[in-house]
Amino acid sequence: MATAYQDRKLADPAINVGDERYFEAAAEGKLLLKKCDECGEVHHFPRGVCPFCLSSKVDWIEAKGTGTIYSYSVTRRAGPTPYCIAYVKLDEGVTMMTNIVDCDLDSVRIGQKVRLTFKQSANGTAIPMFALA
Ligand SMILES: [Zn+2]
Repeated sequence: MATAYQDRKLADPAINVGDERYFEAAAEGKLLLKKCDECGEVHHFPRGVCPFCLSSKVDWIEAKGTGTIYSYSVTRRAGPTPYCIAYVKLDEGVTMMTNIVDCDLDSVRIGQKVRLTFKQSANGTAIPMFALA
């Protein structure tokens, strides 16, 4: 069986105060994470306060854009277009919820290596997603 990836209409993300730089970088093909200057931990989604030590000394770092599929599911009944939602563990150690794109969705497996790519929402905002490496 094969389920070919198809682009689907993506909702525009809500860009909250503090998220601007994240989406500006995404428009340039970069995925930003937050790293704590106090304890050194990396986190995602971006927050103004470190979730590990509560320090407000957090700054942006650029992710390498590589990771491994931790878990996934292919939806076939949620809408007209099937898609693969997944947790990807980035090589920086954080896990993010995302989509696996540009592949036979039936070939996706836990443990596969993936690389960063982007898809655009309805208003052209770049959304980080992953393709099989
Ligand atoms: Zn910290």
